[in-house]
Amino acid sequence: MGKVQRSIIVVKIGGSTLGNHDTTMEDLVALQKEGRTLVVVHGGANIVSEWLSRMRISTRFENGLRVTDRQSLDVVAAVLCGLVNKELVIGIQSLGGRAIGLSGVDGGFIEARIKNAELGYVGEVVKVNPEPIEAILKGGYIPIIAPLGFGVKGEKAEKLNVNGDPAAGDIAAALEAERLIFLTDVPGILDSSGKLLPRLSADEASSLIGSGVVSGGMIPKVEACLRALSTVPITQIVDGREPHALLQAMAGKGDGTTIVLTGRME
Ligand code: ADP
Ligand code: MG
Repeated sequence: MGKVQRSIIVVKIGGSTLGNHDTTMEDLVALQKEGRTLVVVHGGANIVSEWLSRMRISTRFENGLRVTDRQSLDVVAAVLCGLVNKELVIGIQSLGGRAIGLSGVDGGFIEARIKNAELGYVGEVVKVNPEPIEAILKGGYIPIIAPLGFGVKGEKAEKLNVNGDPAAGDIAAALEAERLIFLTDVPGILDSSGKLLPRLSADEASSLIGSGVVSGGMIPKVEACLRALSTVPITQIVDGREPHALLQAMAGKGDGTTIVLTGRME
C-alpha cells in the first residue's frame, strides 16, 4: 500500500567514494539497468571542511559532529546540496543512469530536531516521510539524498545539518528496504587486532561499540545498521575503495561486514 515496489537498496556513500574516480557510479547505473530500486545517501564532510577553510571559517568537531553556526550551516547546505549532490547526479546521468538529487528539506522528507544547543544547527532525525522518495522511485529515478533535515530553531523553520549515517539508516527503515550498504574507506568492521569481521549479529556489533573496538566514524554506521535491522534484513559495511564494491556486495561476493539480527544468522 503506497509502497512503490519491494527490494529497495539504500546505499550510503562516504568520503572514500566522493571525489575519487571509483566505480560506484558505474555500479549504481548497472544495478539500475538490471531493474534494481536504489536510494543513495551521501556524506561530504571533508569537502565541507575544504570549503570552510577556503572561506576562512574555522570549524571544529565534538564527538564526530561538526559544531554548526549559522555561517557554517549555509556552507554545509551549499556544498552538500549544491556541489556534492550535483556531481553525483551528473556522474550517474553521464553514464546513462537516471537520478534526481534532493535533500531532506525537499518535500519535507527528513524531519529533524536540534540535537544539542551547543552544537548549533545540528539535527537528529525525528521522522522520515518516505512519500517524496517513493514518488521519485516511481518515476524510475535514483534519489540522491544530501543529508540535510528541516526543523525548528527558536520560532523559525530551518534547515539542519544531519549526519548521513543515521539518516541512511532511518531512510532504509522507513522504506522497509531489503538492504542497507555503507561504502566506506576501510575493509569493513575490524576487530581489536585489525582483522576483518565478516559477519556479526546485532548483539555482537553492539558490544563492539561498548568495548570501544568500534569508534569514531564507525559508530554512527553500526548504530544505523542496528536501528535499520528492525525492518531491513541485511545491513553491510564494505570498502568503497575496492573496484565494483557495490556490485560485489550485491552479488554476495567481496569482503566487508554483514550485520544481521541473531535470529537470521544461519
Ligand atoms: P565515512 O566517510 O565513510 O563516513 P568515516 O571516517 O566517518 O568514513 O568512518 C570510517 C572510519 O571509522 C574508518 O576510517 C576508521 O578510522 C574508523 N573506525 C573506528 N573503529 C573501526 C573499526 N572497528 N573497524 C573499522 N573502522 C573503524
Ligand atoms: Mg563518517
